[in-house]
Amino acid sequence: DRVPFIGGNWKCNGTKKSVADLVKLLNEGGNFPDKVEVVVAPPALHVGYVQDSIRKDISVSTQNVGLPKAYGAYTGELSGNMIKDFGVNWCITGHSERREGFGMAGESSELVAKKTKAALEQGLKVIPCVGEKKEEREAGKTMDVISEQMKALVAELSPSDWSNVVVAYEPVWAIGTGLTATPQQAQDTQADIRKWMADNISPEVAASTRIIYGGSVKAGNAAELFAEPDIDGFLVGGASLTSDFIAIINAST
Ligand code: 13P
Repeated sequence: DRVPFIGGNWKCNGTKKSVADLVKLLNEGGNFPDKVEVVVAPPALHVGYVQDSIRKDISVSTQNVGLPKAYGAYTGELSGNMIKDFGVNWCITGHSERREGFGMAGESSELVAKKTKAALEQGLKVIPCVGEKKEEREAGKTMDVISEQMKALVAELSPSDWSNVVVAYEPVWAIGTGLTATPQQAQDTQADIRKWMADNISPEVAASTRIIYGGSVKAGNAAELFAEPDIDGFLVGGASLTSDFIAIINAST
């Protein structure tokens, strides 16, 4: 039985004031459904404040994690053990924006997999992201792309690692575009991912690992997406910065 998982990825948004306002809005957002796990991922600079001030039924995540497993001479990196020291238990890896690289060299599937493994070794739970671009979907290559991304993870992770992993399926063409995947498109792809996991990891891991959908999830489309059997929750971008996030949590039962 997979517990619904709702993540909010705040991306590179937030002033000290807007972050404090958002924490207040979430803290005053009323009771959540009994069986839902809620996690928010603020920008790294804001993680400490959010961890200290947010309601206890919301966990905190980073949006990325460094490869180093220890403190040391790794300028600019954020190590998994440093994240853990803040009482933060989650990180996202391999978001498509990081794979793309903002016009610079982006992260390869191999790097994403190594970061995922390093974070797991530090005791973090990890949300690796996978997904195809528009032209890849149109060329019928959706599962080719996703299986390459998943294969890299399988090469690094042991079967028992998957109990601390939530896979986010985020079709790149649906992110920030308002072009949400239809419930059928998301369901079909997530069922394919689960089948791939059954064939390439184990049927038990496939059945127990949560696979969540990301890409223009809003208050108005969350319930119909969540109704699909292989959609175990969401990774929400833009709408996680507003009271829509509360509505999405409440729609996910
Ligand atoms: P949007 O919800 O803004 O489309 O972003 C989705 C996403 O990338 C979450 O990680």
